[in-house]
Amino acid sequence: MLLSVIVPCYNEEENIALFYSELLKNNEFFKSKDLDIEVIYVDDGSTDNTVIEVKKLRESDERVKLISFSRNFGKESAIYAGFKKAKGDYAVMLDADLQDPPSLLPEMFSYIEEGYDSVATRRVNRKGEPPIRSFFARRFYKLMNKFSNTDIVDGARDYRLMTRQVVDAILSLGEYNRFSKGIFGWVGFKTKWVEFENVERAKGETKWSFWGLFLYSLEGIIAFSTAPLAIASCLGVLFCLLAFVLIIFILVRSLFWTDPTSGWQSMVCIISLVSGVQLLCLGILGQYLSKTYLEVKNRPKYLVKEEL
Ligand code: UDP
Ligand code: MG
Repeated sequence: MLLSVIVPCYNEEENIALFYSELLKNNEFFKSKDLDIEVIYVDDGSTDNTVIEVKKLRESDERVKLISFSRNFGKESAIYAGFKKAKGDYAVMLDADLQDPPSLLPEMFSYIEEGYDSVATRRVNRKGEPPIRSFFARRFYKLMNKFSNTDIVDGARDYRLMTRQVVDAILSLGEYNRFSKGIFGWVGFKTKWVEFENVERAKGETKWSFWGLFLYSLEGIIAFSTAPLAIASCLGVLFCLLAFVLIIFILVRSLFWTDPTSGWQSMVCIISLVSGVQLLCLGILGQYLSKTYLEVKNRPKYLVKEEL
């Protein structure tokens, strides 16, 4: 049996070898289960020595593989590329910064043996993370679960071990705007959740800015829910009803009473409000349209510069 270990890397030169030695601490376990491994480092257009570090590892160990992108395409593309290349009967995906502890693998594998198709992980706390980031992350998961039919677990990591069947299912979703947490939920299968305490990254800095995360969360909502569109339609209906009531009120008033030109201030307020709501709804529509536009262009999700 072969286990494919997929590691997306973006400027992780200090973590490549560290991750590898950490993974190999499971050697005894791999042997006892008769598991061969292949470690696929997906270099997401790093500008540092990530590629050189991977090549160094490969010199001494043929099981190390490399896919190097022509530029930074984002973690989601890196994950997809890794799955595509994986030949294993099982595949697992971990961050290079050791925030997904490889020491959990034996436990995760035991659930696969029990008959689960996929073993997912979630961290039970967000120790060491900036509080504002945790706060917005929590709000996002609440909102997401309200809006979409796909179940997205708070604190879920992308760290997952799965069988070939699940990998193929994930690969069959060929969309350009990929939101893995949603995709994993969408494909279903029998999933076991393993919990662990948050671990801080081994070396280097996080690649996610606050703004980057915000855009990513929007992507998630748009990719897995059409609720914002429904809300826009409801707002439209609501404002039509309101306008209708107002029209009747004004008509009756000017038919039966005198109507001096007053109240222009309130008119300005109403016009501002309504045009604001219109622009908002147009914006929501625009978001979906832009995503559709990107899908329709059908561009490749990544471009490979080098593959070993
Ligand atoms: N990563 C990537 N491409 C990117 C950003 C990140 O492949 O554009 C990788 C990164 O090298 C790491 C993983 O995705 O292995 C998680 O990134 P990071 O640790 O920066 O995110 P955080 O853990 O802070 O959410
Ligand atoms: Mg990290």
